[in-house]
Amino acid sequence: MIMDKETHKKYISHHEEHLKDKGIGTKLIHCGQEPDIVNGTVVVPISLSTTYAQHSPGTPYGVFDYSRCGNPTREHLERLLCAISKGEHCITFSSGCAATNCIAQLIPSGNEIICIDDVYGGTQRLLRRVVNPNSNIKMTFTPMDDLNVVKGLLNEKTKLVWLESPTNPTLKMTDIPELVKVVKEYNKDILIVVDNTFLSPYNCTPLDFGIDIVVESCTKYLGGHSDVTMGSLVTNNLDLKDKLYLIAKSSGGCPSPFDCFLLIRGLKTLHLRMERINSNSIKVAEFLSSHPKVEKVYYPGLEKDPYHNLMKKLCHSGGVGGIVSAKLKTDMEGTIKFIKSLKIFCLAESLGAVECLIDHPATMTHGSVPPEERKKLGIEDSFVRFAVGCEDIKDIIFDLEFAMKEL
Ligand SMILES: *Cc1c(COP(=O)(O)O)cnc(C)c1O
Repeated sequence: MIMDKETHKKYISHHEEHLKDKGIGTKLIHCGQEPDIVNGTVVVPISLSTTYAQHSPGTPYGVFDYSRCGNPTREHLERLLCAISKGEHCITFSSGCAATNCIAQLIPSGNEIICIDDVYGGTQRLLRRVVNPNSNIKMTFTPMDDLNVVKGLLNEKTKLVWLESPTNPTLKMTDIPELVKVVKEYNKDILIVVDNTFLSPYNCTPLDFGIDIVVESCTKYLGGHSDVTMGSLVTNNLDLKDKLYLIAKSSGGCPSPFDCFLLIRGLKTLHLRMERINSNSIKVAEFLSSHPKVEKVYYPGLEKDPYHNLMKKLCHSGGVGGIVSAKLKTDMEGTIKFIKSLKIFCLAESLGAVECLIDHPATMTHGSVPPEERKKLGIEDSFVRFAVGCEDIKDIIFDLEFAMKEL
């Protein structure tokens, strides 16, 4: 059976309509995943065809003509991402960095991008070493704690404000609704982008605050199993989406149908994983805070954390994700001994999956940040970043307790 475009649209909107006011768990399991009309597949099929037959020149059977520009498996996933991000339009990419690059390509040469100072290393590298020299775009990196500082930087060349909240690895949060006010009052055409990777849509949906585009590295919480590299962006602005889509299909960083399938599969349990990760992480943060060998803990979920009130304002779930950072009362040697004594926490970069990971930013994720910059951000040799997973909390705490004894 072949369905014409209009019937297909009606079939989909009928399915999506009754899910509109449902909770995120129901949305994750059903949105974008209606049974296929021909065979009633309950699971979204992996559609590998790179090209699509046409009835007559320029009239394809359905909505697709060539797989770089659009693919059935990807289309299901993009509708699911729209539903959980509370946005209208989604574009997916082969990585988070490809999504970031697509947005950077929007900015005409000779203009300026303002970016939060301790932004993700890959974003920093793209903006500093590729976009800035190749496209003649001025890059200004700034803290965003004091919005008057941001206000003072805005000028007629500013086209884009880029932020991450919380930041990596020191978990600073930005008052997104206030930032939107400040920037849009100055010039409503300045785009505001939030990289929401550290929170995921389960904890926070920044489009609610009036930003223009939300970006996710789906490689982290959305995939959730350390087995797929993907990125996405979601916006409510159709005109902006058309501009972004032109760049996306022209530059070609599209995801594979198999990766789209894996992401849909991972997303079905995002709510279960995040609930567990949020609750495990606050317990890890509390354990570390009360430990005599820990100098400082960074986790906005802790009541004493300077960003706790902001976290309550921004995170509708009441949780703030699985990244907990800490400064230990020791030197480089002691820190390495501690890391090597852990058995549940695997020493590896990345975050967001079911397993606990530990990162030593000074030598790993932030090794390329100049030492003075690192010091300014507080990333010393004794600084460690935990990415808490879904294991049993008693085993996680036992692992930490054991390794602390080796300090
Ligand atoms: C990992 C990450 C990215 C980049 O995503 P990739 O999928 O690795 O390209 C961007 N932003 C943040 C905050 C990340 O953690």
